[in-house]
Amino acid sequence: MSVYRSYINGEWIDSTSGRTAPNINPANIDDVIGTIELASREEARRAVEAAYNAFRGWKHTPAPARGRIVAKAARFMEDRKEELAQAITREEGKTISEARGEVQRAINVVEFCAGESRRMNGETIPSELPSNFAYTIYEPHGVVACITPWNFPVAIPAWKLAPALVAGNTVVFKPATLTPLTATLLTEIFVEAGVPKGVFNLILGSGSDAGDEIVNHPAVRAISFTGSTETGLKLYAQVAPRGVKVQAEMGGKNPVVVLEDCDMELAVESTAQGAFGSTGQRCTATSRAVVIDKVADEFVEKIVARAKSFTLGRGDDEKNHIGPSVDEGQFNTVLKYVDIGREDGAEMLCGGKRATGDGLENGYFIEPTVFDHVTADMRIAREEIFGPVLSVLRVKDFEEAMRVANDSEFGLSSSVFTNDTNLVYRFVDEIESGMTHINSPTTGGEAHVPFGGLKNTGLGAREQGSTSLDFYTEMKVVYVDYTGRKREGNLY
Ligand code: NAD
Repeated sequence: MSVYRSYINGEWIDSTSGRTAPNINPANIDDVIGTIELASREEARRAVEAAYNAFRGWKHTPAPARGRIVAKAARFMEDRKEELAQAITREEGKTISEARGEVQRAINVVEFCAGESRRMNGETIPSELPSNFAYTIYEPHGVVACITPWNFPVAIPAWKLAPALVAGNTVVFKPATLTPLTATLLTEIFVEAGVPKGVFNLILGSGSDAGDEIVNHPAVRAISFTGSTETGLKLYAQVAPRGVKVQAEMGGKNPVVVLEDCDMELAVESTAQGAFGSTGQRCTATSRAVVIDKVADEFVEKIVARAKSFTLGRGDDEKNHIGPSVDEGQFNTVLKYVDIGREDGAEMLCGGKRATGDGLENGYFIEPTVFDHVTADMRIAREEIFGPVLSVLRVKDFEEAMRVANDSEFGLSSSVFTNDTNLVYRFVDEIESGMTHINSPTTGGEAHVPFGGLKNTGLGAREQGSTSLDFYTEMKVVYVDYTGRKREGNLY
């Protein structure tokens, strides 16, 4: 059995906290994959200090040289692609094909960021004065904390760590405690690629303890967080008095809007993939289907049939389509929402219970669940469930569909199913989400395209694509006067 340790100032350390946590395969709870030595507050402090001390050297390493190290990490990820994918499936539970897709996304992001190291261009600005000009340069913040959730344990860290490092920051990486194996593999990869001592630190510890110590350390100048809205907003408020930069990507309650004229097979298949794929544990998962009354019966009949057709089981068996919830807590949360949906008067048409048979009892499997006649005020229409549960809300027309789709505190992703071009663009104009999809699932995204949400889903600069480095850099403006003379009068 493996033991996972934190990595501080170029060394894997034995924690002195005396506290451990098991890493358990959610598809088979008898499979204890390893033990985490949970970092103490003191160790978290040491990690921040190591990053602080390494900052000047890394900042002054030319950006393309930093990029070469990051490019090497991408190559090592490619070499270890299958190992990373198997690790994701074993500790997080998603199917192996989903895990391979996640690793490929991570490789793409890291490659993209390595290329950005040669494009950290500023602008040259002509002056109102003769023999004067101004220019801009981009500089790193210093120590950046990268705090990540368990649901994309390779891709999300990759899309924070790579741009942070390329921009010249040093990092303290604090992954979720449920996914220490993938965090350890990623750290090994960056270390092997050549990040200098202190530039990359890993803290395996609980959020409320080691995580809290990191975010409250005065040397941390920026925090890139992905996780729940509750935690993200709390962190934001906590560090605001220090003027710390925060980028937070948080919860979602993503709607598909199904209009009368749509290709129904496409709408049903895409909704099913978005709602039940990755066990509904994606921030971009489809959790609400807002369907025009006239076609709602047909949609509901087909989506229920599709929900029942999925095979649940261990992710490493290629025949299975849907894996387990990540742990007992998440499993119980999903079942709690099933009860809430019923109590609030929604009509449950399938699923809603633990899946049994074929050894499924040993894991946290829940049957794909569809609720019909959900109304916008019900909790299952408002709160993030993070499980394979779809709520169908019936509406009379496009206007009502938009009102219902936008009636949410979240705004990450969305999609519309229609063949009417005018309605497509009215939808794009009116939908309140950071990303939207036309005739395709709410899930998915590409490495070179910006990613992020509105409202209580997203704070700060967007991640990935052309915006990858925005959060990780500050602009410096430089005025140059090459007249060699005292200035006559003031320029403002
Ligand atoms: P979480 O908020 O419980 O934890 C996220 C991370 O924050 C973990 O590493 C945790 O240890 C850490 N943390 C918790 N409390 C902390 C504290 N006080 N100080 C410092 N760190 C702390 O989220 P989770 O359960 O791991 O992930 C699921 C959530 O992530 C869902 O809400 C999902 O929507 C969201 N998510 C959002 C996106 C996005 O891009 N919008 C992507 C993936 C996941």
